[in-house]
Amino acid sequence: MKSKNGFTLIELIVVIAILATLTAIALPSYTGLKRNADLEVCQANRITFKRSYMAYTANKHTKREALELAAADVGGTVNDDNSYTDKSGHVCTITYDAQSGFIATIDCSEHGEDKGVTH
Ligand SMILES: [Zn+2]
Repeated sequence: MKSKNGFTLIELIVVIAILATLTAIALPSYTGLKRNADLEVCQANRITFKRSYMAYTANKHTKREALELAAADVGGTVNDDNSYTDKSGHVCTITYDAQSGFIATIDCSEHGEDKGVTH
């Protein structure tokens, strides 16, 4: 008499097909959430950077010192062209207001323009 242990090939294929369908449904949603979370973190870091920079310049640090301290506050480092690389590896380019000298915008290599993030 034939033993009936384990799964048949058809049963395994059905289970794999169900798992593949569930993954296909869940994966785009997960990657979208991850992308949004990365953007939120990046924007928060840019705001923190700007506030830190303003505080350091108000405390009589030189522009370069303020850039380095503000970059360190967001876990990043300043580049030679006075942009900074944050801890995610995004290069953030700073533009200054011509009259006040304060930071006007901080654009991210990964997330694009400032779009009012740091205002
Ligand atoms: Zn970014």
